[in-house]
Amino acid sequence: MKIVKTKRELVGILADFRRAGKSIGFVPTMGALHPGHLSLISYSKAAADVTVCSIFVNPTQFNNKTDLEKYPRMPGKDAAMLETAGCDVLFMPPTEEVYPEGYNATFHFGYLETILEGAHRPGHFNGVGQVVSILFEIVRPDKAFFGLKDYQQVMVIRDLIRQLRLNIEIVACPILREPDGLAMSSRNMLLSPDERAAAALIPKLMEEAVQLKKEGLPLKDIELKIAAELGKNPIYRLDYFSICNADTLEPAETFVPDIRYIALIACFVGKIRLIDNIMLF
Ligand code: AMP
Repeated sequence: MKIVKTKRELVGILADFRRAGKSIGFVPTMGALHPGHLSLISYSKAAADVTVCSIFVNPTQFNNKTDLEKYPRMPGKDAAMLETAGCDVLFMPPTEEVYPEGYNATFHFGYLETILEGAHRPGHFNGVGQVVSILFEIVRPDKAFFGLKDYQQVMVIRDLIRQLRLNIEIVACPILREPDGLAMSSRNMLLSPDERAAAALIPKLMEEAVQLKKEGLPLKDIELKIAAELGKNPIYRLDYFSICNADTLEPAETFVPDIRYIALIACFVGKIRLIDNIMLF
């Protein structure tokens, strides 16, 4: 695996691959890698000739300074994991390689930036738009792989592709979970042992929501019941638990036949904010 820190070097390497007729798969990450990230590498390896992974903790998508400072960084371990996973190129740029001096492009995602993560993390999706558009411009992948754990982010990226008229296939990949159901996340390692144990309630409640819908409980009653269960223990602080139309992310009032629904949650466990989602059938 080649480890590359500058744009210029990466562009050179990828031009050689392209000239040789190779397709390029891209997995953007913020590092502190876990098997969820590595699953994206496997999908890329199966669907493209060359896999590029980037590790860049993007300052512009953090709306909270302490969250940015505390974000785990372990480049040596990450590089070893990627090497074992068969990644071809690792791009680890310093901030000045990504953002030119005075960079201030602004992205708008309409309705999507007003709800859920957009509403609770002001400026977050603008930061995602900035970094992903710049990385796409540098890497120019044929396919890019994103996790459905960040469901709203996948919708934002698809909108970005549309706005910028990019010819990149966005591949949305399933959520990988720990044995107790907790969605894998770089933030999980910031939880204390007690918080980590408590976090297992989140996926349990998501499964419960699926079950309650099957039993015919009205949509709003499911939302209230799940919120009430989290309210019983002060270790949790709920940002939102919301059942939405899975295709538009519009919040739903009642279940209507032939519409796909998704339940999405963002919840602090102690000081660590976790997100998860599940399709409701
Ligand atoms: P991050 O490093 O958190 O920015 O995540 C990089 C990519 O990995 C994003 O596309 C995430 O959606 C994806 N990802 C993170 N956690 C998981 C997971 N548990 N399962 C699948 N993909 C994930």
